[in-house]
Amino acid sequence: MSDAVLVVGAGPTGLAAAAGVASVGRKVILVEKENVLGGAPILSGYAKLVPSGEWAKDAMGRMVKRVADSKLVTIHKGTKVTKVEGGPGNFACTLANGQTVNAGAIILGTGFTHFDSINKPEWGFGTFEDVVTTTQMEQMVAAGKIACPSDGRTPERVAILLCVGSRDRQIGREWCSKICCTVSTNLAMEIKELSPSTDVFIYYMDIRTFGLYEDKFYWKSQEEFRTKFVKARIAEVTRSPDGRLLVKGEDTLVKRPIVIPFDIVVHAIGMDPNELNPEIARVFGVGLEKHGYIERGEQYTSTFSSTRPGIYVGGSALGPEDIDTSISHGLAMAMRAVGDLAAMGARAAA
Ligand SMILES: Cc1cc2nc3c(=O)[nH]c(=O)nc-3n(C[C@H](O)[C@H](O)[C@H](O)COP(=O)(O)OP(=O)(O)OC[C@H]3O[C@@H](n4cnc5c(N)ncnc54)[C@H](O)[C@@H]3O)c2cc1C
Ligand code: SF4
Repeated sequence: MSDAVLVVGAGPTGLAAAAGVASVGRKVILVEKENVLGGAPILSGYAKLVPSGEWAKDAMGRMVKRVADSKLVTIHKGTKVTKVEGGPGNFACTLANGQTVNAGAIILGTGFTHFDSINKPEWGFGTFEDVVTTTQMEQMVAAGKIACPSDGRTPERVAILLCVGSRDRQIGREWCSKICCTVSTNLAMEIKELSPSTDVFIYYMDIRTFGLYEDKFYWKSQEEFRTKFVKARIAEVTRSPDGRLLVKGEDTLVKRPIVIPFDIVVHAIGMDPNELNPEIARVFGVGLEKHGYIERGEQYTSTFSSTRPGIYVGGSALGPEDIDTSISHGLAMAMRAVGDLAAMGARAAA
């Protein structure tokens, strides 16, 4: 029987799981396919995180350091697991770099893929330079200057379009991505802070700033930062003769067509299943649910189980999730893995 736990993915979920397993004195093997640890907040260059307001690089930096500093954690970067043999208590895993590692349990924190706005061509991304995604806008905020990508001018008006690649049955994405309303209301405030002359409009179907985020983000953005909220169905984004962007749609409160010119249009992109999930399902022998996220096993007495015994799954690998929840999943999976291994060890010794 192997004492170690294999954690796959070094985003918020995997880093929390690795730290949790190490905190009770167990060995961790952490495998991350990229050469950088920290997951989406680092790989996509997020600015300040909601709800903490901390810079992503600082918050994730602390999570990475805690794991990297632990003598119990062995990190394999820039590689993936290609083969898994054995079962609970005794998995033998082959890595793409040729090494073999043994683990008693496996934790999947393999996360999500950002929606590619190219799949929503009528909203202008890929056609007009000044149509960007929330991650690109966050990178602009992190660099400290709000400017039109096409010519560097300060935008008079910015539109943030919500639910891009979420809640959209036409393109096979029926889920709500959960965090983008809060991220977008926060982004509107950050834009206003950096560029006080810019007016920010948010186009929405519904606002889902869940739980305590309602006043901290939705109301604050509206009342203190004068963000304008437009309840609308958007038809298309085109270019006017003077080079500005035109957002065309229907104001669904007054039931009238509206066309408003903007200088920058931001797509609030959603959280797709990890594009590698078919490969992950094959290599680890776990199921996928109907949208392509990793399937849960029994939820109430075997929480965070996958459909294969001894392999646990949590965070945004299960569906759209925020960082706080992903961290909780990571810690809960550590508890499950360590607890199940201890029970197995006790049975073997009896
Ligand atoms: C635009 C945007 C902004 C956001 N901003 C916030 C915010 O401010 N606050 C907040 O709470 N949430 C935010 N979120 C959500 C946040 O990104 C997720 O909650 C978080 O990243 C989930 O962490 P995770 O570890 O589950 O997944 P990820 O962050 O996706 O990490 C998964 C890791 O696994 C690795 N991996 C994937 N497949 C494999 C494989 N086969 N083998 C090895 N490694 C693999 C990946 O490279 C990655 O490092 C935002 C989301 C979006 C779309
Ligand atoms: S959180 Fe808001 S923007 Fe994101 S999919 Fe849900 S309703 Fe749309």
